[in-house]
Amino acid sequence: MFELTVKRRFAAAHKLEGYDGKCSALHGHTWTVEVTVAGRRTDQCGMLVDFKILKEMVDGIIRQFDHVYLNDLECFQGPGGKINPTAENLAVYIYGEVKGALSKIGPGVSPLAVRVWESPDASALYRGD
Ligand SMILES: [Zn+2]
Repeated sequence: MFELTVKRRFAAAHKLEGYDGKCSALHGHTWTVEVTVAGRRTDQCGMLVDFKILKEMVDGIIRQFDHVYLNDLECFQGPGGKINPTAENLAVYIYGEVKGALSKIGPGVSPLAVRVWESPDASALYRGD
C-alpha cells in the first residue's frame, strides 16, 4: 500500500459562533491542508498518482477559501443552520471534495485522510466515516 501526501496553504478569516472564547471574534489564519491518498499499484512511471495532479486537485478545492471570510461560504450554510468553519469542518468538507475529484482521476486511488492545520501547533485530522 502506498500513501501520498500533498501540502497546500491558504489564508482566510473566520469566527466561531457559539464559542465562549477568543475565537468567537473575527480573526485569521494561514491554514495548511494535508491531503493523503492511498492505493496499491504504481503506473509505468512508478507513481501511484502524479504529485502535480494531486496538488492541482487540492488547489482547485481550496481556491474558494483563499482570502475570504469562511463563515459566509455556501459550504458552511448547513440545512439546520450555519456550520462553524473549524479545522474539523474544513477537513470534512475537503475530504468529500477530494473523494469526488479522485473518482474522476480513476480507480485505484482513494482518499485516506485530510489534516487541516490552523496554526503550526494545532490541527484536525479527518479519515472519513
Ligand atoms: Zn481560528
